[in-house]
Amino acid sequence: MKKIIETREHLINENVGEKANILIVDDESKNVKLLKTLCESLGHDIKVAVNGKEAVEIALSSQPDLILMDVMMPVMDGFEATEKLKDNELTCKIPVIMVTALDSRKDRLKGISKGADDFLTKPIDLEEVSLRIKNNLNIKKYHDLLNDYNKILEDKVAERTEELSKKTRDLEQVLYAGSHDLKAPLVNAHGYSGELGISVNEIVSYLQSDEVPDSIRKKVASMAESIPGSIRFVQENILKMDLLLNGLMNISRLGRAEIREEEVDMNSLISDVIDTYGFRIREAGARMDVSDLLPCIGDPSQLSLVFANLIGNAINYLDSERRGEIKISGYQKDNRSGYCVEDNGIGIMPEHQEKIFEIFYRLEPHRLSGEGLGLTITRNILERMHGKIWVESEAGKGSRFFVSMPYIK
Ligand code: ADP
Repeated sequence: MKKIIETREHLINENVGEKANILIVDDESKNVKLLKTLCESLGHDIKVAVNGKEAVEIALSSQPDLILMDVMMPVMDGFEATEKLKDNELTCKIPVIMVTALDSRKDRLKGISKGADDFLTKPIDLEEVSLRIKNNLNIKKYHDLLNDYNKILEDKVAERTEELSKKTRDLEQVLYAGSHDLKAPLVNAHGYSGELGISVNEIVSYLQSDEVPDSIRKKVASMAESIPGSIRFVQENILKMDLLLNGLMNISRLGRAEIREEEVDMNSLISDVIDTYGFRIREAGARMDVSDLLPCIGDPSQLSLVFANLIGNAINYLDSERRGEIKISGYQKDNRSGYCVEDNGIGIMPEHQEKIFEIFYRLEPHRLSGEGLGLTITRNILERMHGKIWVESEAGKGSRFFVSMPYIK
């Protein structure tokens, strides 16, 4: 930004002074000669075209800094040539000064509508020509400078985005490797603590035998009493850690998984997901109601994960005080397919409604064996498929989880 301001001041203070390439377009040699002499005296390089068609060709091949364009010319007039230049992205930024007849309001208006940047009137006033050339070259330089800066900024943003995605990939790799490596010791701990439990049971049954003196039996029995409970506690915690590690591995896998984009039949996808929950729905005595759903664009296996999480939660967080009702409905809005998973469960207080999407955030840590990762994974998956998720809920009444996905074009 500092450089832009400095350059702007430089342009204003110094005016142009530098050599520019100017294209003079006129079929009258008298006018060409006059403008050429003036431009050369200002230190610029000159090219000449004798009609609009030639002007467009020269502009495309040599990219002048400025064009002085006469209006009335054979083959192609100045209006048409200006329009062509402004319509082409290679030449649209070159300032075109139109040379019109004095007081020809109609020509000026037409010139503006074709994209002319400035006007000069005939008969030509040399001082005016020189000032207008300088001004338009300044503006062009200013534009070029802004373009350069835009380009630099775009490159920087692209570079940073690449750096960030590389770091994210590295982090996902570390997360995966870490979780994966922790699993082996955990499996050992689970195995050995199980064996410890078996050995303790054997010791306890051995203690019942007559061979063991009473005094020892009493002493060891009181020590052995608490051991099975402790081992159970260790094993429960190992299982919890295992669930957590699985969740973390899933999160790290997500970032690396290829996402397919295809038309997904949501009616059959949801019906498959509900089938997998058949037992739990019956066990909970819940009523399930599914409306007709619109298709969407996404990855079917990832969408199955999303709805398995949402339907699983809807069952998990039903209220034992009333019969559970779970509804799945669809809607269409702003070219997107929407789905809603609604339950009449325990609901969520407003202050937790955004936080439940954060990693490890749980409101009911003692209620069930979840890890607080389901909704984090769900939101991540949806974002990768250009989808969105949000919740509306009332504590004590129930929740509605909305999913919005790109619709079939
Ligand atoms: P988990 O269910 O494994 O704990 P989630 O990320 O799926 O993890 O959910 C985070 C928390 O959001 C849950 O612990 C629960 O407190 C709350 N929650 C999610 N879905 C519902 C729901 N349908 N009704 C009430 N609370 C919910």
